[in-house]
Amino acid sequence: MEDMRAQAERFGAEIIADDVTAVNLTGDIKEVVDSEGTVHRAKTVIIATGSGYRKLGLPREDELSGRGVSWCAICDGFFFRNQDIAVVGGGDTAMEEATFLSRFAASVTVIHRRGELRASKTMQNRAMNDPKISFALNSEVAEIHGNDMLTGLTLRDTVTGATRELPATGLFIAIGHDPRTELFTGQIDLDDSGYIEVEGRSSRMNIPGVFACGDVLDHTYR
Ligand SMILES: Cc1cc2nc3c(=O)[nH]c(=O)nc-3n(C[C@H](O)[C@H](O)[C@H](O)COP(=O)(O)OP(=O)(O)OC[C@H]3O[C@@H](n4cnc5c(N)ncnc54)[C@H](O)[C@@H]3O)c2cc1C
Repeated sequence: MEDMRAQAERFGAEIIADDVTAVNLTGDIKEVVDSEGTVHRAKTVIIATGSGYRKLGLPREDELSGRGVSWCAICDGFFFRNQDIAVVGGGDTAMEEATFLSRFAASVTVIHRRGELRASKTMQNRAMNDPKISFALNSEVAEIHGNDMLTGLTLRDTVTGATRELPATGLFIAIGHDPRTELFTGQIDLDDSGYIEVEGRSSRMNIPGVFACGDVLDHTYR
């Protein structure tokens, strides 16, 4: 079966592997600027920049990404066999990640800043009945430790402010994702969460000639 890239090229698409750093979508002729500074002009622009995982915003988080810190249990869980893993988040995704990881891990600690989980009862029960999963509620990650590889976390109690150390060689962050729409802010209509607003069930937006599709406008299904 022909792959999607080949199919696009067969229909005449030219593919440029580069970052878009600026856009001007307001005129009849739209401008899209890449990281080389080349300006690409078009009558129509389709935005499909997807969404990115939300980060904790802590020092060491980026440096230790791929070195113990991850946003995807299905992708990376296998590397954490017999290790102590922390999962941050209290929603269905966090429960799903924790339950998946418990197959490989020695232990899984779910860290959630409130006293109650947001996840559905079914997902909560599944995680709570898993002997390898424990919960650090009313807790947030205050610090991430490790030079080359993750070694542990400092947790802060969100009620008392007290801190404690949690040894962990895996940290899975499951606190949601944000649409990649910063580039377009001020030019196109975004909803309160930053997702692109389209008319009804179409891909049409507030500016003629600009369309959107995929995760950048879909916060329900992905
Ligand atoms: C672990 C996991 C499992 C999944 N499993 C399934 C599944 O089984 N079935 C299913 O239907 N869906 C699944 N999904 C969801 C699916 O992957 C997404 O819905 C889909 O990839 C969204 O496509 P998209 O093109 O909108 O965005 P993306 O696939 O995120 O693509 C966006 C692209 O835009 C690029 N980009 C962003 N900003 C810029 C910029 N400024 N300049 C240049 N390029 C830029 C990004 O690099 C990226 O390549 C899964 C997702 C995850 C994370």
